[in-house]
Amino acid sequence: MPITVVGSIAYDAVKTPFGERERMLGGAAVHFALAASFFEQVRVVGPVGDDFSETELQVLRQRDVDVSDIERIAGGKTFFWRGEYGWDLNSRETLDTQLGVFEGFQPKLSAESRSSDVLFLANIQPDLQREVRSQLPAARFVALDSMNLWIEIARDSLVEAIKSVDCLILNDAELRQLTSKPSLLSAAREVFSWSPSGPGIIVAKQGEYGAALITPEHFFSLPAFPLESVVDPTGAGDTFAGGFVGYIAAHPHDEISDELLRRAMAHATVLASFNVEEFGTERIERLARVEIVARLEELREITRFSSDG
Ligand code: AMP
Repeated sequence: MPITVVGSIAYDAVKTPFGERERMLGGAAVHFALAASFFEQVRVVGPVGDDFSETELQVLRQRDVDVSDIERIAGGKTFFWRGEYGWDLNSRETLDTQLGVFEGFQPKLSAESRSSDVLFLANIQPDLQREVRSQLPAARFVALDSMNLWIEIARDSLVEAIKSVDCLILNDAELRQLTSKPSLLSAAREVFSWSPSGPGIIVAKQGEYGAALITPEHFFSLPAFPLESVVDPTGAGDTFAGGFVGYIAAHPHDEISDELLRRAMAHATVLASFNVEEFGTERIERLARVEIVARLEELREITRFSSDG
């Protein structure tokens, strides 16, 4: 099932203890699209300014991502984010966020983008997420990601956006912040209680500690894939979401069962692990399918145990 994604399309400036990049391709929708493109056709919706280069669009096209709904706003500036990580790569400081062309953006989705069965509302203003959600009323699976900034400055709109989706994907600290609940399970239960038609699947991302999957009936958790060298975690969450949603979209005839969701978690974990090995989109741009398959096997071995004796 093709996937439509709306979210930031950005230039990022990133500094980690292992190096820095002053202006690299980034954005939640970009990281998501590159990861999900290993599983399904992806259509990206969002604006860029005239400073956005053809080379960056080519990165998406090379993975067969449909960029026809990326709108170039004349005289506008592409979303810009600057962040810095210390030795604890799990926490980062945002030094600058410039919404640029996202300010006042009115999405005009093509008939193709509106026809997708799967929709991912990647991290961006919740009003914009809701606007796009309303243009795909018949989508069969809709997931949403967000972040602390929107919880702080647009919580009411974000809660409304969350109520309109099937699956919420958030960092665990943000899930606690959103719900004012101290534990993951109570936070998830709080979200489940907001609306009977709201999300029944919650994924709590836990950085280098992995991710947890919570539904009203089940709990599942995976560690992150262990790596000796992590260079830049930027986009790991979106890449994880791309693997998760992409895997579900690639199985249109399967019921969205606990088993399917567990396999989606494994694929998401593997995709995210490649993303952090290099800056920005550098590693995913030259990722090969065989590498995904091999690492999935390794992850299966790492997490296997016997209950005998
Ligand atoms: P992640 O590391 O997965 O949380 O996502 C990092 C990406 O999110 C970067 O490439 C940024 O361009 C993008 N980003 C950072 N802040 C925001 C924001 N406030 N709204 C939308 N996207 C953002």
